Amino acid sequence: MTIASVDQAIQLISTGAAAGSTCSPELAAGPWEFDAGAPGYGPGSSMGDVIPTGSPRQGALPESYRVASPEELSGRIRAARETLGDRVVILGHFYQRDEVLRHADFVGDSFQLAQATKSRPDAEAIVFCGVHFMAETADLLSTPAQAVILPNLAAGCSMADMADIDSVTDCWEELEELYGTAPDADGRVPLIPVTYMNSSAALKAFCGAHGGIVCTSSNAETVLEWAFERGQRVLFFPDQHLGRNTAKAMGVPLDRMPMWNPRKPLGGSTASELHAAQVVLWHGFCSVHKRFTVDQIDTARREHPGARVIVHPECPMAVVDAADEYGSTDYIKKAIEAAPAGSTFAIGTEINLVQRLAAQHPEHTIFCLDPVICPCSTMYRIHAGYLAWVLEGLVGTVDRPPVVLNRIVVADDVAAPARTALERMLAARPPVPARQDA
Ligand code: SF4
Repeated sequence: MTIASVDQAIQLISTGAAAGSTCSPELAAGPWEFDAGAPGYGPGSSMGDVIPTGSPRQGALPESYRVASPEELSGRIRAARETLGDRVVILGHFYQRDEVLRHADFVGDSFQLAQATKSRPDAEAIVFCGVHFMAETADLLSTPAQAVILPNLAAGCSMADMADIDSVTDCWEELEELYGTAPDADGRVPLIPVTYMNSSAALKAFCGAHGGIVCTSSNAETVLEWAFERGQRVLFFPDQHLGRNTAKAMGVPLDRMPMWNPRKPLGGSTASELHAAQVVLWHGFCSVHKRFTVDQIDTARREHPGARVIVHPECPMAVVDAADEYGSTDYIKKAIEAAPAGSTFAIGTEINLVQRLAAQHPEHTIFCLDPVICPCSTMYRIHAGYLAWVLEGLVGTVDRPPVVLNRIVVADDVAAPARTALERMLAARPPVPARQDA
């Protein structure tokens, strides 16, 4: 049986029409079932994570969108698109469900979509089919006249939520007390904050205001080089795994990367461990990439001898070490595109991207390391019903004028320093490689 999408696979598994397993039978329901209930990330990879109090909630989705068939929703989205023309641009993240992604003008990772935002200054509305921190970044990079829309406000990110501005500020103050503020003989300050793109605008602003910078999974090494030139140490948040995997590849010893757990005194490390630190790692992780294990890699190698195992750097260190290669979603995509026909890939990243790559490359064998279908809980909250709702809102009806629903706005006092941290990232360049003489 050919399965068109992850959602279709989940529907078939839940009715017993297809073999396989999902991490939650509730994945077969519409996301509005969870928007109406108790706050939480909903079914999927983040369902065991605790959502912070006060996280954005999505109001009720009108019934006509909840009961519409996938075909009807697709038709309504296309009709609204046609009416709106160039007034709207739809951006879609790689991890988004296919039923939504097929309507996107640009598809990419968070960094590529941030760049795409800047390429359409003429569009009045940017509909961001991704998660909350990405929509915030789009608002930072778009013009004041443009409205950035997140179709479901409950589409947050459990990793981004693991570092909040109050806990990071407390950590910073404790470390400042420990390290002081005086630069060393080379003019390097004691500590530079580095935040992963997957963080709130408030944390990007914190970095901008404290001499720090933003990184993505594709440029983390370049950004750490930038930070080590200016600081004796780095405070890296929110993803411990990206920080550890990147710094380890650059030669930083593991015993110089203590963890900072905001719920423990001094982050759970001793003062001498923190003094010796080169990178202080925040206690955060991505629940999608935490699912990958060394056992899964061993099984893949046993069942598919010769398979190339590529994982995302948000995976735990042991998994990255056991893989053949690791890299961003863009790296994984390009590696598959460049491989000779007949290659076999075992991939450690979100299932929607892996399944799409498998469908786009029938010349290869491509499968996800995790045999259980468990998409990102928050990306999953964007459903075609919500996309149709926000687009038809922009169109309006004879009885109702056009309305901008679910607009994401970053306050001016946060936006200015957050842009500074993003601009530092865009200006950071990889070190020039040493010339190799023949
Ligand atoms: S895949 Fe991980 S980091 Fe990305 S949105 Fe989902 S939980 Fe957040």
